[in-house]
Amino acid sequence: MEDLDLGEFSGGCQCGAVRFHAKAVRENPHVCYCRMCQKATGNLFAALVGVGHENLTWTRGRAAEFRSSEHVGRGFCANCGTSLYYRFEGGQHISFSIGAFDEPHRIPLLYQMGMEGKHPSLLDLNAVEEAGTTEDAMEDEAVAIKLSNNQHPDHDTSDWTPRPSNS
Ligand SMILES: [Zn+2]
Ligand SMILES: [Zn+2]
Repeated sequence: MEDLDLGEFSGGCQCGAVRFHAKAVRENPHVCYCRMCQKATGNLFAALVGVGHENLTWTRGRAAEFRSSEHVGRGFCANCGTSLYYRFEGGQHISFSIGAFDEPHRIPLLYQMGMEGKHPSLLDLNAVEEAGTTEDAMEDEAVAIKLSNNQHPDHDTSDWTPRPSNS
């Protein structure tokens, strides 16, 4: 599989304990609706793009991994729980959660798969009511969240202490 000509990317988990850098991403950005991706992300689909082992650097910490089968590892941050990757044992790349990248909007989705698991409301998402931006939809909460935000910023940081989880 080839790499896309999209340049380099950084990313990481919500708390910033795990950060990575990709010199390039593969030509496979996609969403998968299969039941195992749904459970691994706790969501209706996983949005994933491959990063070749040769192009990947872990720049802070390392992901913990759950073995969802003999062949697949599902990476996540052990501190904040962000779902970070899908890894097929022996594969040439690791498929990272596109939402974990600092600039996910730079990565276009090229296909969708696991169609058997696609949620009925996603079949026609444009028909679902739009409730505006985060600020529109939850004005007071959005202000309060901003004032105590523990999320790592969307860029690399030389000095960053992740807030420990409450567990
Ligand atoms: Zn984290
Ligand atoms: Zn899947």
